[in-house]
Amino acid sequence: MDTDVLIVGAGPTGLMLANQLMRRGVRPMIIDRHSGPAQQSRAMAVHARTMEIYSKMGIMDQALELGARGTAANMWANGKHTARIPIGDIGKSMSPFPFVLMLGQDDNERIMGEKLRQLGVEVQWNTELTAFEQRPKHVDATLKLPDGGTRKVSAAWVAGCDGGRSPVRELSGITFPGAPYEHVFFVADTVATGSMKPGELNVYLWKDGFHLFFPMRGKDGWRVIGILPMELGNKPDLTFDALVPEIQREAGTDLVFKGCNWFSTYRIHHRAAERFRDRRCFILGDAAHVHSPMGAQGMNTGLQDAYNLAWKLALVIKGRADAGLLDTYEQERLPVAQRLLGTTDRAFQMVVKDNWLARLFRTRILARVAARAMTIPRARKVAFRTISQIGIRYRESPLSQTLAGLPKGAPVAGDRFPWLQLKLTAGGPVEDLFQKLDDTRFSLVVMGQPAPAEGALGHGDLLRVHAIPDDPANAGELAGAQITGRAFYLVRPDGYIGLAGTRLDAGVVERYFAEHHVRGSAGSGKPVGLALRGAA
Ligand SMILES: Cc1cc2nc3c(=O)[nH]c(=O)nc-3n(C[C@H](O)[C@H](O)[C@H](O)COP(=O)(O)OP(=O)(O)OC[C@H]3O[C@@H](n4cnc5c(N)ncnc54)[C@H](O)[C@@H]3O)c2cc1C
Repeated sequence: MDTDVLIVGAGPTGLMLANQLMRRGVRPMIIDRHSGPAQQSRAMAVHARTMEIYSKMGIMDQALELGARGTAANMWANGKHTARIPIGDIGKSMSPFPFVLMLGQDDNERIMGEKLRQLGVEVQWNTELTAFEQRPKHVDATLKLPDGGTRKVSAAWVAGCDGGRSPVRELSGITFPGAPYEHVFFVADTVATGSMKPGELNVYLWKDGFHLFFPMRGKDGWRVIGILPMELGNKPDLTFDALVPEIQREAGTDLVFKGCNWFSTYRIHHRAAERFRDRRCFILGDAAHVHSPMGAQGMNTGLQDAYNLAWKLALVIKGRADAGLLDTYEQERLPVAQRLLGTTDRAFQMVVKDNWLARLFRTRILARVAARAMTIPRARKVAFRTISQIGIRYRESPLSQTLAGLPKGAPVAGDRFPWLQLKLTAGGPVEDLFQKLDDTRFSLVVMGQPAPAEGALGHGDLLRVHAIPDDPANAGELAGAQITGRAFYLVRPDGYIGLAGTRLDAGVVERYFAEHHVRGSAGSGKPVGLALRGAA
């Protein structure tokens, strides 16, 4: 076997998957048909759930250094400033990163690429997957090499992180139902001055559509996104200059574009693959789902796909879980993609629909309603949970098991384990539990009852125990998350709750691992378990 995992595509999804596999001791081969990293910024927004993962990877400081925190969204309707919505700490108390980070996709790819290099893996550029054949125990892939020659590579698994036109998806015969939107988007990285509030997101709503201005690095740097007027839609040699009068007609002549560093038009589709896996091949990111850029979810969703698959693939490759665990990748991520298609489509229709009612709604109502809603704490919370992706949950997954007895409103299996700041030692300082959870292992968090000592674990290195001491400060923080009294949570490596219950008895965690065929050591047949008797 040449490699355990052949990753096709070194965009954000492929780079995330390669990093996560390396962090878990699996060395992948990662190829890309391009000659080097993308130079275009494309995606601009990094959401809280992605930042939580970046912090586990040790790249969050770099991301913060290069990016800018989104502090507010300014709503403009028919050229008039109608609202400023502060969003700087919109997710306060819900995530260590309660904001949106403006950081171009090129920077995200650079940071993840550098991290991967530090871990000892280089992307093989100018290398294209042209064909593969699935065998019972591996995949034979044909690669076109930089010198034009070909090479056969055998891989135990193939991960298609190869974008919207995914050859892995096509060669696997996985259909990609959906449709293109009739509208053509444009995107331009410009240097501009005008009415825009500096350093903040500016959303201009017109009767005919919208323009978004994202602040970019550099003096007067603005990313402009909008929809091409129909009459310009089919022009092959279209330049940004041709669009300027149109934008100025709506925004006023004080909007001056001094330069344009990148201009591109693209037709978007809303599609989700009917399956995310064909035997030994997986598809992730844009290969599995594409949708409108409303809410800036595309890149972030691909990164979550990779984070979901990586720990499962690593356990299976290391012989610590049966291959059945890999079925849960599609079971968990496909519904997420389908829901996302629905929400982004509804949001998109709201800003592009072309009838008098929609125009009225866009220019008279939308900005005011959004601004009003964002003054209501509950609405801010819901908006943050949705956009930041921390609200994604897998309650229906076969990996999610909630035992009886937890109070109403408490986190349950399938939820992302909440961000909690607790005293982790009796009388000690308040610490960030999220930072303590090791995302290369399962974590057992035990409250209100004795917990097994670390050394009492049956097959320890796959499981860490965090015993939360009884303390008034802890009780307050836990009550905020609706956790009262006795409880325990088995947290998966990707931060989701696998098993939740009240009384931790000796067999319950062992049974969970046994049911899901997760083992303490390679091929031991012995499930990860706790020796509760005599512990604590
Ligand atoms: C203008 C624009 C703005 C966007 N804005 C946002 C935003 O604000 N927020 C957001 O979250 N998302 C945004 N997106 C979407 C985002 O860019 C994509 O979701 C993201 O690039 C998907 O990453 P990926 O790694 O899955 O695929 P890609 O980035 O498309 O990477 C796929 C890679 O696979 C390689 N490849 C393909 N075929 C082969 C082959 N046969 N062999 C080897 N390599 C191959 C390609 O060369 C490519 O490098 C935007 C997209 C566009 C176009």
